Amino acid sequence: MVNAGIQPWLFEVEPYSGESLSHYLGRFRHANHLTVSALGVATGLGGIFIKRLEHFHLNPFPTAKQIADLASYIGIDPQKVQGMLPAQGVAIKLEPSRLCAACYAEVPYHRLAWQYKQTSGCEKHRLRLLSECPKCKKRFGIPALWHGACNRCGMTFEAMQIMQKSF
Ligand SMILES: [Zn+2]
Ligand SMILES: [Zn+2]
Repeated sequence: MVNAGIQPWLFEVEPYSGESLSHYLGRFRHANHLTVSALGVATGLGGIFIKRLEHFHLNPFPTAKQIADLASYIGIDPQKVQGMLPAQGVAIKLEPSRLCAACYAEVPYHRLAWQYKQTSGCEKHRLRLLSECPKCKKRFGIPALWHGACNRCGMTFEAMQIMQKSF
C-alpha cells in the first residue's frame, strides 16, 4: 500500500533518534491538540490502546497492522514507529520514567534506552539516570506528559544534571 502521507490538516512531527514512542505521541498530540481518546478515535485504534503505548504497556505487543494504522495516520513510515518501540523481548522498566538530564539539556526528549531494564546509566555522560526529581522527590510521570520540568516543584530537567551521580 502506498503511504498517502499525513492528512493535510495535521502537523507532521518527525521522531528524534532513539525517542520513545510515549514521548513522541505526547509531542504529536500536543502539536495537533489531540487528547488520547481523540487520537484513539482518529486512528481507529481506540484510546485504551494509545494509553497503553504511552505507559509502555506492551504486552501484548502491538501488531504490524496496529503499527501500520498508527503510522499511516501520523504520516510517518511504519519502520519509524517500530523504531520507537523496544525490540520484542527486550525488558522494559514500566515506571518510573528515567532521565539523563545532561542528554535532555542537549536535546529535550525521552530516550527509549533509558527504560531498558539493563540500563542503569548514560554511557555518553557517564552519569546515573534519575527516576525522581532530586529536589522534591516526585517520581517522573510518563514521557508523553513531560514538559521539561518537575510537575510538582517546577525544577527544570536541565537544572537536574548537577544532581546526577557519576558511575
Ligand atoms: Zn546523558
Ligand atoms: Zn520537584
